[in-house]
Amino acid sequence: MANKRTTLAKKNKNLHLRNRDLVCPNCGEPNSPDTDFCESCGVPLGNMAATDPVKSIRSAAWAYRRIFSGPPSSLILVGVWVMLGPWLPVVPLIMAYQIANDASLGIGGLLELSLEFLWLVLCGLLLYRITTNYWSHPRKT
Ligand SMILES: [Zn+2]
Repeated sequence: MANKRTTLAKKNKNLHLRNRDLVCPNCGEPNSPDTDFCESCGVPLGNMAATDPVKSIRSAAWAYRRIFSGPPSSLILVGVWVMLGPWLPVVPLIMAYQIANDASLGIGGLLELSLEFLWLVLCGLLLYRITTNYWSHPRKT
């Protein structure tokens, strides 16, 4: 009986170990396979993070936080500039065009202009942030 209990305990221990064999690619912490995010560092794990809408937002937020909080790699820096950089000259042109051609802007036009302005500020802030992060941190080679 005692022997059987020991075997069972050993079996449970093995099962427990097997249940935590999803190793986090970021910090190396073992997680259970049904976990969607690393219990230690919050990295998205598994498929759920990509299919569930709320979790995919969390997953994307994590990726963006990582991109904009630490020193980015050159590839990320270039990628963000390619993605957001063109807006910096384009948005003011669109706004100027609207102001010049729409004598009566109205509420809708003003709303549109303020949204464009917000987008311009957001792009500028993100680009400023990632660029200063890139230059102020020692770069990974
Ligand atoms: Zn982790």
